[in-house]
Amino acid sequence: MFTPIHAVKPMMSTPAEIEVESRSPFTLSVQEALSRTRFFPYWLDNPAEPPTEPRLTADVEADLLIVGGGFTGLWAAVQAREQMPHLNVVLIEAGKVAHGASGRAGGIISTSVMHGLPNAVRVFPNDIAQLEAFGHHNLDGFEETLKRYGIDADIEWNGEMTVAVDPEHIEHLQGDYELHTRYGHDVVLLDGEATREQLDSPLFAGALWSRNRSGIVHPAKLAWGLKRAALSLGVKLYEHTPLIDVIDEGQTVYVRTPEGSVRAPRVVFGSGTAKVGIPDINRRVLQVRDHVLATEPLTDEQLARIGWKNRQGIYDTRTQLNYFRLTKNNNIIFGGLVSYHFDGDPNPPQDEKAETYYRLAQAFYRTFPQLADVRFSHAWGGPIDYCSRGSVFAKRYLNDKAVFVAGYTGFGVAASRFGAFMGLNILFDRNSPERALDIANQSPTYIPPEPVRWLAAKVTFHAFDGADAEGGWKRAWIKGIKAMGFPM
Ligand SMILES: Cc1cc2nc3c(=O)[nH]c(=O)nc-3n(C[C@H](O)[C@H](O)[C@H](O)COP(=O)(O)OP(=O)(O)OC[C@H]3O[C@@H](n4cnc5c(N)ncnc54)[C@H](O)[C@@H]3O)c2cc1C
Repeated sequence: MFTPIHAVKPMMSTPAEIEVESRSPFTLSVQEALSRTRFFPYWLDNPAEPPTEPRLTADVEADLLIVGGGFTGLWAAVQAREQMPHLNVVLIEAGKVAHGASGRAGGIISTSVMHGLPNAVRVFPNDIAQLEAFGHHNLDGFEETLKRYGIDADIEWNGEMTVAVDPEHIEHLQGDYELHTRYGHDVVLLDGEATREQLDSPLFAGALWSRNRSGIVHPAKLAWGLKRAALSLGVKLYEHTPLIDVIDEGQTVYVRTPEGSVRAPRVVFGSGTAKVGIPDINRRVLQVRDHVLATEPLTDEQLARIGWKNRQGIYDTRTQLNYFRLTKNNNIIFGGLVSYHFDGDPNPPQDEKAETYYRLAQAFYRTFPQLADVRFSHAWGGPIDYCSRGSVFAKRYLNDKAVFVAGYTGFGVAASRFGAFMGLNILFDRNSPERALDIANQSPTYIPPEPVRWLAAKVTFHAFDGADAEGGWKRAWIKGIKAMGFPM
């Protein structure tokens, strides 16, 4: 019989020593728990993936070229054809649709287009009411689109819950509760016991549960559904077709790909943190790697050990934040271990090493010691497009013939629809309420170049690990970075 243990070992430094304390006869070491793990996103390991579209092998012309087949590019393609059906739209994707950040996400859907209400208050305090309205309007459009194209992406609208892992953090949740109530959100503040009734962890001291207009989605199924919708609308989509060169020809933009080219008067860059030949983009956006684990599916008995009746998407209040949710098959997706690789390396070899995930696995077992017998089936890393605004921006380039849309800083599953909408409005110079506001007219600040960038990121992420438990210089460093205007 399983006996839950509510004692958690302090953080240990050498991976070999990492083990979870439990009286369960099934206790696994972190190494064992990761010994059969596939280093590939759980979401993409699915036979529902649609057939890959062909490469571009010709020189073609388009009215609108979209670079990138993640949520931003796909939403831009769908909205462009819906709103301007006369346009000939071409989308090129360097690899396969959804294999960037979009198919690697935790899949927690939020109402906000600003990475949450507190971040909106931090960045654009004078525009909160309008930004909130954009968030609601965006989710309406999101739901309608999924219905219109019959996209089944395993959505569950059970809300999102922020859990305090330290009694000191409850005061912070109280502030967030008041803020969300002021703007009409259906939120409840839970004490420790009520939180553990929702989801049982010895770490949880309280929670803020935002009960509607947020939830969870299968991100790859969402992206694949949008791909099908774009194709059904007549978008010409080429996979395994990277942009390798971009030239401003005056009236048009010329984009070279390995076996062909596209010439278009207008371009949307939905290419996230990748380098696409416009250095200014990478001065404002930095690629942070985030990491995720998926457990094997829980049995009913294992699920009963932790409760989780309402299946919310969860964030905790650690500085090195963890987020977690269930899948339709009751795997737990457990994410949140950030790293930085020099010059934003998009394919760091560390992503495929078990050791990279030890600390994340340890955090999982600390959170759910009742699940000490559960193994991890998948582990993966993915790019976060971090910027000082902490939320999406759309900026014109190439003498206004192109717009770049990104900067979600880890919150783009729903906000990408709004990002694409705003980007198209700017690119086609259309009147729309967001264009009167700073969100459409300001850009995030520059982030220092390498090697300062690498050094600052390394120190910051090292500080993340001990800031809560140790305080000291680590907390002071993080405060300093926040004071410089960067979201933490
Ligand atoms: C681990 C992780 C967890 C996350 N969890 C959440 C979450 O729970 N909730 C949430 O809201 N958000 C989450 N996010 C953030 C969310 O996934 C992103 O904000 C969103 O997917 C961004 O979509 P995108 O289309 O802008 O970028 P991407 O999905 O990265 O798409 C960009 C595409 O451009 C392509 N590309 C790049 N260069 C070129 C080129 N030269 N030519 C052609 N194509 C190119 C890439 O191959 C890629 O497919 C998470 C992100 C990660 C990495």
